[in-house]
Amino acid sequence: RAKEMGGNNFQFYTAAMNARLLERLSIEKDLRNAIEREEFVLHYQPQVDIRTGRIVGMEALIRWQHPTLGMVLPHRFIGLAEETGLIGVIGAWVLHTACAQTKSWERAGYGQLRVAVNLSARQFTQKDLVQSIANILAETGLAPHFLELELTESLLMNDVEAAIEILQGLRALHVQMSIDDFGTGYSSLAYLRRFPIDVLKIDRSFVRDMTLDSDDAVIVKSVISLAHNLKLRVVAEGVETQEQLMHLRILECDVMQGYFFSNPVPAETFGQILREGKCLAMEAGGS
Ligand code: C2E
Ligand code: MG
Ligand code: MG
Ligand code: MG
Repeated sequence: RAKEMGGNNFQFYTAAMNARLLERLSIEKDLRNAIEREEFVLHYQPQVDIRTGRIVGMEALIRWQHPTLGMVLPHRFIGLAEETGLIGVIGAWVLHTACAQTKSWERAGYGQLRVAVNLSARQFTQKDLVQSIANILAETGLAPHFLELELTESLLMNDVEAAIEILQGLRALHVQMSIDDFGTGYSSLAYLRRFPIDVLKIDRSFVRDMTLDSDDAVIVKSVISLAHNLKLRVVAEGVETQEQLMHLRILECDVMQGYFFSNPVPAETFGQILREGKCLAMEAGGS
């Protein structure tokens, strides 16, 4: 192999391409070992009911504590995990850890929280998905309606009929389903009606500009009424300012998530937030 690489073809690689390839190979090797070396952690970001101000759940977000690179964010390794198939083991670890943690917060008396977990495309089409989620729920003792799976539009639209079938299998387990980054893909309204889902999560790009750009404000408003007409909950992601929050409250958005309330934090910190009973300030715009 080294011989092949060192041959004539080698000159076609630019130094930069070569460096990238080497980085990729080394990250891939590290990724293979990361699970058993326990280098993954989940951070949790609160989801807050906009009407009551209370924490109703959290999104679990994976981080990789790499021995030399430090904290690596998911956009740097989830794609690679997908390509290599490692997403199977990593995804199962995420689901198990998130469900076990949620159950332990429930046992600690912090109320009944729902945990949202992101699924990637390859995980979604994995043959034993429904069975493996059923097993994880049984092992951890978490009631299925406290688990919410986040799926992207493009993942669902890739093969609509297959997606509907998988969603129906998951629905039979009584887990909740959410469309993440809603508005960035191109799902047709006709399909949206056929997907057995529970939540639309408005992409943060619309939330970010909704107080500056009237087009984005209209999009947010339309997604909220669309969701409510379809009897779905709406979560706004990436809420960073009081102004955005007020606007979302007026538009009767159900749940907010974003830096304005809290960054994603390690489990211990999240436990602390729950113990303190942190709530969203309800002053102004309430009535
Ligand atoms: P996502 O599911 O849309 O997650 C929301 C992302 O927005 C997170 O980035 C979060 O840290 C960030 N965020 C939250 N609030 C704010 C805010 O107020 N402002 C801004 N600018 N950003 C905010 P993160 O953790 O880097 O995750 C990026 C993406 O990686 C996620 O996007 C999700 O698609 C994927 N991901 C994360 N964890 C997992 C996982 O366990 N499995 C899979 N398959 N994908 C994951
Ligand atoms: Mg998500
Ligand atoms: Mg999202
Ligand atoms: Mg997003």
